[in-house]
Amino acid sequence: MSQVLELGMLDERKDFILCNSKDKSKGLKCEKDSVAGAVSQRACVYCGARVVLNPITDAFHIVHGPIGCASYTWDIRGSLSSGSEVFRNSFSTDLREQDIVFGGEEKLTAAIEEIMESYNPEVIFIYSTCVVGVIGDDLDAVCRKAEDRYGIRVIPVQAPGFAGNKSSGYKAACSAMLALMDSNLAPIQRSGINILGDFNLAGEMWILKDYLNRVGIEVNAKFTGDSSCQEIMKAPQAELNIVQCAGSMTSLAKRMKHKYNIPFVKISFVGIEDTISSLRKIAELLGDEEIVDNVEKLIQEEKSKVEAKIELYRQRLKGYSAAIYVGGGFKAISLIKQFKDLGINPVMVGTQTGKKEEYDQIRELTDEGTIILDDANPTELEKFMKERGADILVGGVKERPLAYKLGVAFCDHNHERKHPLTGFVGAVNFAKELDSTLNSPVWEIIANESGGE
Ligand code: SF4
Repeated sequence: MSQVLELGMLDERKDFILCNSKDKSKGLKCEKDSVAGAVSQRACVYCGARVVLNPITDAFHIVHGPIGCASYTWDIRGSLSSGSEVFRNSFSTDLREQDIVFGGEEKLTAAIEEIMESYNPEVIFIYSTCVVGVIGDDLDAVCRKAEDRYGIRVIPVQAPGFAGNKSSGYKAACSAMLALMDSNLAPIQRSGINILGDFNLAGEMWILKDYLNRVGIEVNAKFTGDSSCQEIMKAPQAELNIVQCAGSMTSLAKRMKHKYNIPFVKISFVGIEDTISSLRKIAELLGDEEIVDNVEKLIQEEKSKVEAKIELYRQRLKGYSAAIYVGGGFKAISLIKQFKDLGINPVMVGTQTGKKEEYDQIRELTDEGTIILDDANPTELEKFMKERGADILVGGVKERPLAYKLGVAFCDHNHERKHPLTGFVGAVNFAKELDSTLNSPVWEIIANESGGE
């Protein structure tokens, strides 16, 4: 890969970047901590934990650390709620120099007391941050004492930002949810399925739930979009876990299989092709003939509503090139299929936390010459988008400014999106958004004003 490295790019990063070719002898390095000094687009351990737990609508979250950690993730996902809005608050111990010298446990105890007096919560999650990892406050002990004193769940989330990468934060969040499930001592009576790894950013969880209910499948618990503490506690009752965001939730699914004997399956409702195969996979696993028939009916019904619209956008979008930079590999794979279906060629594909088997699949799905990156930084994204001539970047909030500075169209497929991009309706919303940005007259105006530079 040395031929693509140049000034501003780190030599230590070369194995994390690959130009796709028929020769599969060289693999892509992934599932590692970020290279020091690389200014990774990835978030820290604490942020990984927070994005998973924050959508639980009636949970309280205390960030034990400097105020910056709390503000960095305050209401970080635009997750929608059909009930409580408590999760939109952010509580912090606001650690200062003096606390760092003398310890912050007293301040944390006082913060719990204040929340108990003001809100009477059922569950509090308490996050450690970088500073707490350095000074060594005993989070577990403070939480245990608070549980004894108040008789509620006060769950530590061990997530010092530097102690690993975003994936370690996902695992810390999964441990916290398992600890919450331990509160439920009711006997297990299997019923319904759990949806893991959808955060209801723009109502996606409701679309999923609607499809499942229509074919006769009851949803037992949702992780974590539009869920509640009680819902998480009853999750061990489910007969199947379906895992959408595999990066954040596979660890929980594996541990629930081990602990509660609940099987799991990875699915994706991003794009029509994957929506159809996921619905069929779930029905097949549940082994109910009526559900299998209902799924086929739903597929026909929903497809007939969107086919003509998708075809219209296909005509307007074919021939463009796209760059993808998203959190997990599952989404990148579904996006590649969606782009190809619309006649758009993915020329660069990267993820923050992709796994080896996901990158293998990405290599199978993309053309030779496509740049594939793990844990990229802005310098690399800029270089390869320019070099490969991407017309649009699909990413999240941290990629948006980069695209606009480069004069490239942008589609938010992450925290800040406003239209659901899941299922059949989501596929139309996605195509519509691509059309409005790619075919906007603004690009022609910019090109004329800059003289084509
Ligand atoms: S935990 Fe550390 S890396 Fe994460 S936001 Fe706080 S200071 Fe930054």
